Amino acid sequence: MSLPPHAKSFLITEAVRGEGGLLKLPDGSRFMDRFDERGELAPRDIVARAIDHEMKRLGADHLYLDISHKPADFIKHHFPTIYEKCLGFGIDITREPIPVVPAAHYTCGGIMSDERARTDVNQLYVVGEAAFTGLHGANRMASNSLLECLVYGRAAAADITRREADIPPPPEAPDWDESQVRDSDEDVVISHNWDELRHFMWDYVGIVRTTKRLQRAKHRVDLLSAEIGEFYSNYRVTNDLLELRNLVTVSDLIICAALQRRESRGLHYTLDYPGLLNEVRDTVLVPTTYRTLAP
Ligand SMILES: Cc1cc2nc3c(=O)[nH]c(=O)nc-3n(C[C@H](O)[C@H](O)[C@H](O)COP(=O)(O)OP(=O)(O)OC[C@H]3O[C@@H](n4cnc5c(N)ncnc54)[C@H](O)[C@@H]3O)c2cc1C
Repeated sequence: MSLPPHAKSFLITEAVRGEGGLLKLPDGSRFMDRFDERGELAPRDIVARAIDHEMKRLGADHLYLDISHKPADFIKHHFPTIYEKCLGFGIDITREPIPVVPAAHYTCGGIMSDERARTDVNQLYVVGEAAFTGLHGANRMASNSLLECLVYGRAAAADITRREADIPPPPEAPDWDESQVRDSDEDVVISHNWDELRHFMWDYVGIVRTTKRLQRAKHRVDLLSAEIGEFYSNYRVTNDLLELRNLVTVSDLIICAALQRRESRGLHYTLDYPGLLNEVRDTVLVPTTYRTLAP
């Protein structure tokens, strides 16, 4: 969960719920018991869907997370950064609830790796959030990502050190030829596409999905991919252009994987397949299949 958009993606740690924070509607009433018998301690995908549902039902911009029933010293000691940040927005969390919205802050899934962080591309390792080690199921347990980064970072370093003598030096990188491109005179294309991507990924590939929404997103990401490819071939590259291109590629992978899943499990929830399949199966995209997945 995070503070509403004007607070520029400041994350409210799940630990506030863990320490007894209560989720409330604008009228001050609690609602999680209507969605899960574990109430505010339900898994984060269930909590995110419940908040999303109530915001849409009420047309509310945000809901509230209230920890003010705890002693002020306890709150300031356990959540000093959140206390200070909210105070900066005129919200004293020892006296009043925190306005919150659901927020995406982690990507489950990624490039498949083995227990030594090796991918199926020779001498290519992947560590961290970009990797799929199989440790996280369809929902990441809090605080397990940094642990995974450390463990697999160490495993990769150990494996590279062990194989160092057999690893040939990397090939010479070819010179970067910019003779055929010019400076872009339309950087608005990048900021516009970035906003568009953010909006349709949240609206069509966000907390509650349907096959129709995913297909709409697939159609748009293909258009964006073509436009950015054309932009990339004609204009000098910039960090923003590269980052946008990477974002579009990752968004396409997320959409294609989601279109393949005929069930709802963890973070992936679709109204077309609300139940769980009997068999737990990873969704694996390989270059060939990924390319032929257009709806
Ligand atoms: C607000 C927030 C709170 C979190 N809280 C927790 C927590 O309590 N416990 C927990 O376990 N996890 C938590 N996570 C998740 C955890 O922080 C991340 O999963 C973890 O940091 C991922 O590490 P990483 O090195 O894989 O990627 P990152 O930390 O994202 O680092 C990737 C780096 O690569 C750089 N980069 C990107 N593209 C390029 C490029 N093309 N060329 C060169 N450099 C590039 C980026 O600038 C960045 O520095 C949190 C995440 C967020 C956002």
